[in-house]
Amino acid sequence: MKSYIGIDWGGTLLRVGIVSSTGKLLKKETVRTAELSKPPMFLAKIKELVTSYRSYSPQGVGIGAPGIVNIPRGFIYYLPNVPGWRNYPLRDALRKAINLPVVVDNDANVFALAEARQGAAKNYQRALFLTLGTGLGGAFILNGKILRSTTSAGEFGHVPIHYHGKPCGCGGTGCIETYLGNRYLIARYKKIRNIKNEVDVEEIYKKALHKEKPALLIWREFSLYLGKFLAGMVNIFNPQAIILGGGVSGAIKVFKPMVMEVLKQQAMWPNLKNLKVFRAQMKDSGVIGAGLLAQEGHLEVL
Ligand SMILES: [Zn+2]
Repeated sequence: MKSYIGIDWGGTLLRVGIVSSTGKLLKKETVRTAELSKPPMFLAKIKELVTSYRSYSPQGVGIGAPGIVNIPRGFIYYLPNVPGWRNYPLRDALRKAINLPVVVDNDANVFALAEARQGAAKNYQRALFLTLGTGLGGAFILNGKILRSTTSAGEFGHVPIHYHGKPCGCGGTGCIETYLGNRYLIARYKKIRNIKNEVDVEEIYKKALHKEKPALLIWREFSLYLGKFLAGMVNIFNPQAIILGGGVSGAIKVFKPMVMEVLKQQAMWPNLKNLKVFRAQMKDSGVIGAGLLAQEGHLEVL
């Protein structure tokens, strides 16, 4: 059976795995992204992993990169949350280093590809995907095809929602990502509680389950931003499903009822009649999607 290498490159962790031609994950490992901050370190590590996977005879490599990519050329323009990468020909450099075909796409597209082929979105013609993590990634699938351009499309996290807002990794200010990203939630929570010690989003979620007031306030604000933003997306795309992935989506139990309330108040009601909002169900969709990407071999740009 043919197999492919899938690389899910996140702001914090890089996950690499072997994916079968039927989309099964056969092996997986995790590397800290900080260890791969420069292209030569990245190439050396991937080469080492590819060599260790020789017994699987992989046919190619797919990469989901966390940023703005020229998709037909596999060229990285920049990665908003990973410094040290700018204007780099990743596909060509890696192909030369490992002597295998390489395909590079945006990480949210790769997540959406896995969910559309074998996960939560299989039964929908129009599905919107959001990854809620360090940033806010997005993708839109229409009749099984991802909305792609030669550079980027579906960068929903960079919809500006304030005239004067915080600077964003994309170079703009006031993007929705700067209100929903995990760093923002953590900083806001620490400020409200006036604490200095480290907390994570999971802790803020657990505190909210126990009805702690500052934690509830964080999720109320989060829901207001996410709900208003999703209402805009619903009015534009009229999706049948909105699928939420990424670490922050783990708090869906707390924020979904409030988000649905905001949606009801703000979105065009006929578009809400059959809308489903739920959390991604697949484990390792980033790695599997990247493996499927390698199998597809080339990317259609709409
Ligand atoms: Zn931005």
